[in-house]
Amino acid sequence: MTATIAPAGVQITGLRKSYGSNEVLKGIDLTVNPGQVVCLIGPSGSGKSTLLRCINLLEQPNGGTIHVAGFDATDEDVDVDAMRAHVGMVFQQFNLFPHLTVLQNCTVAQEKVLKRSRAEAEAVARKHLSAVGLGSFQSRYPVELSGGQQQRVAIARALSMDPKLMLFDEPTSALDPETVGDVLAIMRGLAQDGMTMVVVTHEMAFAREVADHVVFMDRGVVVEQGHPDQVIGNPKEPRTQDFLRRVL
Ligand code: ADP
Ligand code: MG
Repeated sequence: MTATIAPAGVQITGLRKSYGSNEVLKGIDLTVNPGQVVCLIGPSGSGKSTLLRCINLLEQPNGGTIHVAGFDATDEDVDVDAMRAHVGMVFQQFNLFPHLTVLQNCTVAQEKVLKRSRAEAEAVARKHLSAVGLGSFQSRYPVELSGGQQQRVAIARALSMDPKLMLFDEPTSALDPETVGDVLAIMRGLAQDGMTMVVVTHEMAFAREVADHVVFMDRGVVVEQGHPDQVIGNPKEPRTQDFLRRVL
């Protein structure tokens, strides 16, 4: 059996991950309390995506412990499918199923993983599609949507699984500037509704406004973390200061 710790949060200690001889996570400690929004910032290649992907075991850690949504992810007997059912993930490149309609994108995992009936899954999907402003797009295919609309479908698809935790990996980096605001507004709303969220982002204004906690990573380590007013507004570490000078 897996231990039950941190019902909706994340607790990571000493997390290590290597690709061959390249150690990209060098002992990461991170706590995300239930209902908190944590933003991960840092230069390209610092290990942010790898960290996020380790949380739902899209990457297999080489060391350390991860507790997520009540599961011990680093227990070799963990029920990975059950764990992932509680963890929604939204990617930079949307990753919608191209051969399925918008509605089907939002129902397939509900039926397969949660064993919901078609009617129930469609009702849940419609609720979330309406909430992201896409109630009238259910019969379209992803290719017929703008990037911002596809990302809103991806968020609705994740929310249709009733996740305890949402992971976002640069959700607005591939979007046209005029659609970034729509996606950030949905994420802001989710945060206000109390969703636990880990967000990799280069949107410093969003991080400063919405995050409870900001983590600055560089070269596989956490260099500095704390309240956004401190880490983004008044960083102590030279590496954080350099990074912020370049992105702000
Ligand atoms: P970030 O998201 O901060 O840009 P990543 O986590 O994507 O950083 O990458 C961290 C490092 O790990 C980089 O050096 C990258 O090249 C390497 N890396 C990421 N994924 C893989 C992979 N599947 N195989 C080999 N190296 C990888
Ligand atoms: Mg990345």
